Amino acid sequence: MAHGGSLGGLRAANLALVVSILEQAGSLSRADLMRRTGLSRSTVSSLVVQLLDEGVVVERLDRGTPYKGGSGRPPILIELATLTGVVAGIDVGHRHVRVALARPDSAIVLERSVTLDVDDSPHGSMDRVASLLDELLEESGHRRDDVRGVGLGIPGPVDREGRMTSGILPTWRGLRPADELAGRTGLIARVHNDAHLGARGELAYGVARGHRDLIYVKASTGIGGGLIVDGRLVTGSTGIAGELGHVQVDVNGVMCRCGSRGCLETEVSGPKLVSLLQPAYDEQLTVPRVLELAEAGDAGATRALNDFGRRIGRVLATIANLLNPGLVVVGGAFGGAPALQAGIRDALDRYAQPTTAAAITVVGGALGERAEVMGAIAVALDPASEAAGPADEPSRSPVAG
Ligand SMILES: [Zn+2]
Repeated sequence: MAHGGSLGGLRAANLALVVSILEQAGSLSRADLMRRTGLSRSTVSSLVVQLLDEGVVVERLDRGTPYKGGSGRPPILIELATLTGVVAGIDVGHRHVRVALARPDSAIVLERSVTLDVDDSPHGSMDRVASLLDELLEESGHRRDDVRGVGLGIPGPVDREGRMTSGILPTWRGLRPADELAGRTGLIARVHNDAHLGARGELAYGVARGHRDLIYVKASTGIGGGLIVDGRLVTGSTGIAGELGHVQVDVNGVMCRCGSRGCLETEVSGPKLVSLLQPAYDEQLTVPRVLELAEAGDAGATRALNDFGRRIGRVLATIANLLNPGLVVVGGAFGGAPALQAGIRDALDRYAQPTTAAAITVVGGALGERAEVMGAIAVALDPASEAAGPADEPSRSPVAG
């Protein structure tokens, strides 16, 4: 034989192929391995037996997905024995930090959220992120060395170089959150703004699974957006695409924290919802209280949410005419309100062209306040995705530094 190829060499190549597929996929059934390798059932079985004997792989029951087969047992998954690592998802909000650890197959190991004033203290916030991450690692029996990837969400625009770009979080401006985290933990994070991660979370694990074209709206302290086109998050030339809240809706409107004026967010936000309603109520309102009132049928709260939905929907109608999405997912602190979603629906029907509007389903997010951290997990598991990385990114401007 010209190559000195032998049955032994072929078997070694097949063993290496199975190992490399498992490295990428995490856990797979024998049937999955057959499909991915193109090898026969008996060959895959024999390879798996050898890898089990050598301690390279382990078996575990797949309890994560509903089993529809006939034997009444969940399928058995094969995974690398060394696959003990975790990925970390971190969601930094305006008033909270949430950290989750997940296995390489995305099953959540541990998750925790703490209240924190993030806006005024970037360095204190990153200290808390690092300590929370260490707490979770220790509690789950892991070390920093076990972390295979980190996704990090920040509530403001992050450019492709991972730098905070605008005055939306003034004290964070110019900061590189990935470098801040790396300096504290030695871990390399992929950084996105929170609404981008919300879109990724709903796409990977939530209500948008299986969809390829959608708009994610985060209705919270501000109004954020994430555009998914043909299955991929649109980040734009510098990474800050999707700034739904800064579409101008009133040329003579009030100045916005972004430096423009009359932005959607100057009229529609959680704080605006409260301040709009407060004069008509004796009690001290909060966003959760407004949602409770609306759910109980309170006319004022319902009306305010519906009006806000119409304003968001009017902006979405223009974007929808350009992108032809099949889904609008509304998340964030008050995105789940039916009155808000009904307002969005009305405005889409009124302002988008009829065939565009007819193609759109408006739904609330399935992950709620966990959408961002789950998006961060998705980014951590898929390092080739579009998230901005640390300062050694090849896309870094050659004139920088
Ligand atoms: Zn603005």
